[in-house]
Amino acid sequence: YAKAQGKGRFCYFTKTMQENANYRASILNDLRTALPSNQLELYYQPIISLRTNTVIKAEALLRWNHPQRDIISPLQFIPIAEESGLIIDIGDWVFQQALAQLKHWRQHFQADFQVSINKSPVQFKSLSQHADWMDTLSRESNYPEPGLVVEITESLLLQEDPNIMLQFKQMQHNGVKLSLDDFGTGYSSLSYLNKFGFDFLKIDKSFTQEIVENSDKRELCNAIIVMAHALGIEVVAEGIETLAQQDLLSEMGCDYGQGYLYSKPVPVKKFEQILKNGLVN
Ligand code: C2E
Ligand code: MG
Ligand code: MG
Ligand code: MG
Repeated sequence: YAKAQGKGRFCYFTKTMQENANYRASILNDLRTALPSNQLELYYQPIISLRTNTVIKAEALLRWNHPQRDIISPLQFIPIAEESGLIIDIGDWVFQQALAQLKHWRQHFQADFQVSINKSPVQFKSLSQHADWMDTLSRESNYPEPGLVVEITESLLLQEDPNIMLQFKQMQHNGVKLSLDDFGTGYSSLSYLNKFGFDFLKIDKSFTQEIVENSDKRELCNAIIVMAHALGIEVVAEGIETLAQQDLLSEMGCDYGQGYLYSKPVPVKKFEQILKNGLVN
């Protein structure tokens, strides 16, 4: 019986793996045409100041309007874009799109508005992409403060590549602010933040969402905020869904908040309504 079950399981797993591989291959195939056929779109999620409760930044988040399939999460297609190298072209598109949007919002809505984009560790291997971005930024009229924030995950820092440090320096020279994304999920310590000169730290939503019930997480969160501030780094809490979470974070002195409590990521038109009318709760 055990043998039969084991065999059955084996078949089950190989079938799933095969299905998985097929799914990925088909997604990759479709992803190659997604950019040229205008299926990609940037949504924006407001980031609010926890002191003034007003929207002062936004995070740009990719959405794929696939012609046949239902919504495919970036959590699914970004890794495929990274493995295949498509993330380079997609990342360029995100950069240009977000920068143009940011410029528009700075002119028409708020002069000191900031927009953050996510830059994958894979993109840091492309020195030509980095050079192109720096070239674009240095030609901007609002130099040296374009209002662009680049969010980076900590896995990048573990590579200990001296070239990454250089890219960080050049980005900051061109007025880009650096933000460490998903803090608390990986291995990085606050000493990294200092070493790499981050401007912002984003507390991961898995953390934010436990601070009300879990006192250990709450204490840790408090310590992160205190230490970040001691290093001159501002803190963004992501994934705020309840007023209780917001109030705790605000009491701890957390600077900014992002989450469904305020708004989900929304298309440009909808975001502009938020900029005009404020958040309507
Ligand atoms: P991330 O950079 O950590 O982005 C925050 C994610 O948390 C977003 O998921 C956002 O929709 C979600 N979120 C925000 N507030 C809440 C909340 O209150 N509750 C919950 N449950 N979720 C919340 P999204 O848009 O699905 O993106 C997932 C990840 O995909 C991003 O995580 C980022 O790592 C990656 N990604 C998205 N767009 C890009 C991009 O343009 N380039 C790259 N390289 N990665 C991207
Ligand atoms: Mg992010
Ligand atoms: Mg994040
Ligand atoms: Mg995250």
